[in-house]
Amino acid sequence: MNVVLYSSTGCEYCKKIKADLTAWGLPYEERNVTENEAFFNDLHGQGIYSVPVTFLDHHPIIGYRPNAMKKKLQELGWTPGKQDGAKTAETVTQEALAEEDAAENVFATLTEEVLAETYDLVVIGGGPAGSSAAVYAARGRLKTLVIDKAPTAGALALTHKIANYPGVLGEVTGLELLTLMRRQAKQFGATFVRSNIVSVDVDSDIKVVKLPEGEARGRSLFVAVGSRGRAAKVKGEERFEGRGVSYCATCDAAFFADKTVAVVGDNAEAAEDAIQLARFASQVHVYLPGKSWGRDVPVDQVEGLSNVKVLPTHPLREVIGEDKFAGIVVGPNGKEQRVDVDGVFVYLAGNRPGTDFLGDTVKRDEEGYVVVDEYLRTSVEGVFAGGDARRTPVKQAVVAAADGAIAAMSADKHVNKRNRIVAQYS
Ligand SMILES: Cc1cc2nc3c(=O)[nH]c(=O)nc-3n(C[C@H](O)[C@H](O)[C@H](O)COP(=O)(O)OP(=O)(O)OC[C@H]3O[C@@H](n4cnc5c(N)ncnc54)[C@H](O)[C@@H]3O)c2cc1C
Repeated sequence: MNVVLYSSTGCEYCKKIKADLTAWGLPYEERNVTENEAFFNDLHGQGIYSVPVTFLDHHPIIGYRPNAMKKKLQELGWTPGKQDGAKTAETVTQEALAEEDAAENVFATLTEEVLAETYDLVVIGGGPAGSSAAVYAARGRLKTLVIDKAPTAGALALTHKIANYPGVLGEVTGLELLTLMRRQAKQFGATFVRSNIVSVDVDSDIKVVKLPEGEARGRSLFVAVGSRGRAAKVKGEERFEGRGVSYCATCDAAFFADKTVAVVGDNAEAAEDAIQLARFASQVHVYLPGKSWGRDVPVDQVEGLSNVKVLPTHPLREVIGEDKFAGIVVGPNGKEQRVDVDGVFVYLAGNRPGTDFLGDTVKRDEEGYVVVDEYLRTSVEGVFAGGDARRTPVKQAVVAAADGAIAAMSADKHVNKRNRIVAQYS
């Protein structure tokens, strides 16, 4: 069995993996990416931007997932060593795996019950701002729902190492840090679901969040969508929005049954929506703007589908059509080509607040940042905004998390009609 562990200096999960490998009697080669740039580049070359990664006979297991590792070892025919004691691969049960997945994946299915509920606080965005708000709100006994369209595609989730979040020693990936925050919020009772916000209606006391699956309701709303929206669209894109250009497979995939569609983007959202589209469309062409996929993308799943074709280095140049959508132009400089598809799904990120879905419902500035006061109140009572979605002095995870705390306590004041904000002390 060939075992290679890519680690970094100070990485706590790396230490756990080393301890497990030793306990299982498995010799391994350690490649520290902090100390050796070649190892760092190795991983990058494979499209992996986080440690730890353990390659078991060249199969990568990203993150600290002991049960997933044991399962893979079993598949590879590994017989545990004597030192393994009671913790043999054979003892791995499906329940243990499910438990591990559940711990890492706090997002539940969006059910009718969720849509039937009126929450005290609905949080849009599950980054550090939204997740921290969920910790505070749920702990403060507000019934809290967090809706996120792409939990691994926010700014923190994409950060491959974060070393300046106070109280977190060593280097962890942004997603690891975020997972801890989300799990903490879930333990306090918050519900996390995945969905794409279509629009909001904030005119009455009960705020309505419109989703492809229905409507979610809250007595207060926290907008924490970060600032990974795009500043500029390509030529023709705006003109054909909703008429061939889409940003949400959950909303629109069914319109493309037996058709040919393009997906443009390299993040987890693009990959997951390509998988969803492949169930409807006859052909899905995925165009990556750069050479490879981003991190935390289920590459094997998407590339393993027979009706999906992935083309790297094919940035989107233009959306074309006369009276109706006709296709797109993609490709590197000088090698642009027209592709006749029936629709294009666009998942490109930038650094503008992703607040367009708010329209004129709350006041935003010329760049799309939501205008808030020191309590993170927007122009509409009961609606709050924070993190990178407001014009913060500095875009940092700890600032976004602090905003989440303020917003949750402001929401508590609003929902419970308190005269003042009540801080939480243990
Ligand atoms: C490459 C990079 C490296 C960084 N490194 C550091 C660092 O080392 N230290 C540090 O402190 N900060 C770092 N930052 C900054 C930090 O990540 C951000 O300030 C912080 O993540 C902002 O938090 P947020 O919750 O406002 O937004 P985000 O973290 O971007 O989270 C927003 C969430 O909202 C979701 N969302 C967006 N639109 C919608 C929608 N319409 N419907 C539903 N959900 C939606 C997204 O999927 C995402 O999960 C880095 C940022 C980047 C880009």
